[in-house]
Amino acid sequence: MSNINPLNYIHDRWRRLSPYEAVDPPEKLAEAAGIQENEVIKLNANENPYGPSPLVLEALRDFPNVHIYPDPAQVAMRKAIGDYIKVDPHNVVVGNGSDEIIDLVFRAVLSDGDAIINAVPTFGMYPVTAQICGANTISIPRGSSFEIPVHEVMACASKAKIIVVVSPNNPTGNLTPLADIEVLLDSGSLLVLDEAYAEFSNQTAMGLINKYPNLIILRTLSKWGGLAGLRVGYGVMNTALADVLMRGKPPYNVSRTAEIALLASLKDHAVLDSRAQVIIAERDRLYETLENLPGVEPLPSQANFILCHIAEGRAKMVYEGLAQKGIAVRYYSEGRLENYLRISVGTTEQTNKLIVALKTLV
Ligand code: PMP
Repeated sequence: MSNINPLNYIHDRWRRLSPYEAVDPPEKLAEAAGIQENEVIKLNANENPYGPSPLVLEALRDFPNVHIYPDPAQVAMRKAIGDYIKVDPHNVVVGNGSDEIIDLVFRAVLSDGDAIINAVPTFGMYPVTAQICGANTISIPRGSSFEIPVHEVMACASKAKIIVVVSPNNPTGNLTPLADIEVLLDSGSLLVLDEAYAEFSNQTAMGLINKYPNLIILRTLSKWGGLAGLRVGYGVMNTALADVLMRGKPPYNVSRTAEIALLASLKDHAVLDSRAQVIIAERDRLYETLENLPGVEPLPSQANFILCHIAEGRAKMVYEGLAQKGIAVRYYSEGRLENYLRISVGTTEQTNKLIVALKTLV
């Protein structure tokens, strides 16, 4: 039987899959730059440079129940999230990162030949997850300021089961106005509104949850909560939808450690909110500094990162030059973002080092 090709078992759409380009871990970045791991300035994945709340670390240290399965009904987490964002716990589903909620929603909704609408450039997981479900992605280019062309989306909405809106958008940092979101909701398609970066902006559509049964809002503890490595995020939606996803999800999808970390984070949200304010202030300082660098054109951002246009086709060279100095930023090799770099907002010290390095490269 040794002549069996194991790939013959694999679904065609998996074999053809173009994977999401995830970022390298710090150990790999350190090796490439020839420095220690703790010297890497990691500004390529929009992580929180301050890490989790101190209450999280305390709760995890004293936590005894690693050998017991977590609660499949997520009662404590759904209640804490419900209290925090002022919705009914039955509106909430918690996932192993918000990536898992994207996966659950898409698998619950999409079949072969269905379509989603994606306003590009945006977060890369949506087309990948659609492809896994056998669905097509209708990519609608964003406008000159990376705004969503609402009329164009509406013109093909009847062909799509799901419309994806990331607001603030990754990697462009801009918000989609609530009025536009309401227009898109009136299309009747399911609207997946990704608010991964909402805590760094002054806008959320959470107040619309009970008005629109076709609205699903995604949030994550990876950015605001500093828990990217622990993996916990959640979706907020109509209770009937939440109930279906709860029935179809893996029973123990969120680990006990992630649960403890989420509960402690929400208890300590004032500390996380004040850190978000520090990140916002640092973002605005970074923006002004970048604006004054010749050859660099930053875009205004409502998130914890800034997309920058780099003049004269030098984005790749600048990206590689920064990497050699142990500073990791996000580079896009193709399409409309070819001449851009995305820089996550770090600490003041990290920003200062970044600027010194950038001055020698641009
Ligand atoms: N949505 C957006 C817009 C993101 O940028 C990210 C993370 N890069 C995610 C979702 C996934 O986040 P999580 O860590 O919760 O899976």
